[in-house]
Amino acid sequence: MPETIPKHCLSFDVEEHFQVSAFESPMRRRHWGQYESRVEANTERLLELLVSRGVRATFFVLAWVAERYPSLVRRIALEGHEVASHGYAHELITAQTQVAFREDVRRAKGILENILSQPVRGYRAPSFSITKNTMWATQVLVEEGYSYDSSIFPVLHDRYGVPSANPEVHQLMTAAGPLWEVPPSTVKYLGVRVPVAGGGYFRLYPYPVLRSLLRKLEGEGSSLVMYMHPWEFDPNQPRMEGSVVSRIRHYMNLDKTESRLRTLLQDFAFAPIRHVFPQIEQTCSPPIGDSFGIVGDSRPKNSPSVSLN
Ligand SMILES: [Zn+2]
Repeated sequence: MPETIPKHCLSFDVEEHFQVSAFESPMRRRHWGQYESRVEANTERLLELLVSRGVRATFFVLAWVAERYPSLVRRIALEGHEVASHGYAHELITAQTQVAFREDVRRAKGILENILSQPVRGYRAPSFSITKNTMWATQVLVEEGYSYDSSIFPVLHDRYGVPSANPEVHQLMTAAGPLWEVPPSTVKYLGVRVPVAGGGYFRLYPYPVLRSLLRKLEGEGSSLVMYMHPWEFDPNQPRMEGSVVSRIRHYMNLDKTESRLRTLLQDFAFAPIRHVFPQIEQTCSPPIGDSFGIVGDSRPKNSPSVSLN
């Protein structure tokens, strides 16, 4: 009997605890090489948890990390997970020129594909920084050979979000061709769109509340798109200086994340984004200068946005 693919997506943004946007500063960035590295051990613990539950996920790996831990990237892929790109240097797109962004996503894709010898199709921006002002990034992603993006968060937030964005998986039309958009999950509750996708939200809500919101979304026929970070499973990480809000967001309930994930995995069945949405695979554009490109793309060039649900 063919294996049934779960309809929900679980994803991890693989980065060091000192690289998060909440604590970003030029001074800190200059010293990245001097902080204690914890990403490898944290990701390995996560991989062990996932293998013990037979769950596969998508890992958006920061290529800065991939360069330093290529065997970790290979292990992620060997264990049946999808490896996707979190860019190279974790600069907010809102702080980059188009030229710098193109260079960042091209470099990241090249590094990951050299390590894996297989194509990398997905991208997630640092801190979901594809916003109304940086929507040009979607065209660059298509031109650089990416097939899907998971960065447009349909919420109101001080650093990211496009509150009016389509909350379902859909195809965006760019001047360079279509790009699948896989937005992190939100659910409409009492007329307000509430983020339920993971990260700080996963640690903030009491679990039964989160579960009932996720069940509501599932009941509406949507696929969940959840995201977490390996540092969220590391309550002993060194504390960084930063604003009170950033410190609360980053450090709140870190000691509860692992047990919450275990419960989440009991309550919902997950798979990598590429497996949940195989149409992404079928509509790969031939990327510029990418030897892994799939040619013979037969998409209509001007098809309207398509919602999957
Ligand atoms: Zn990140």
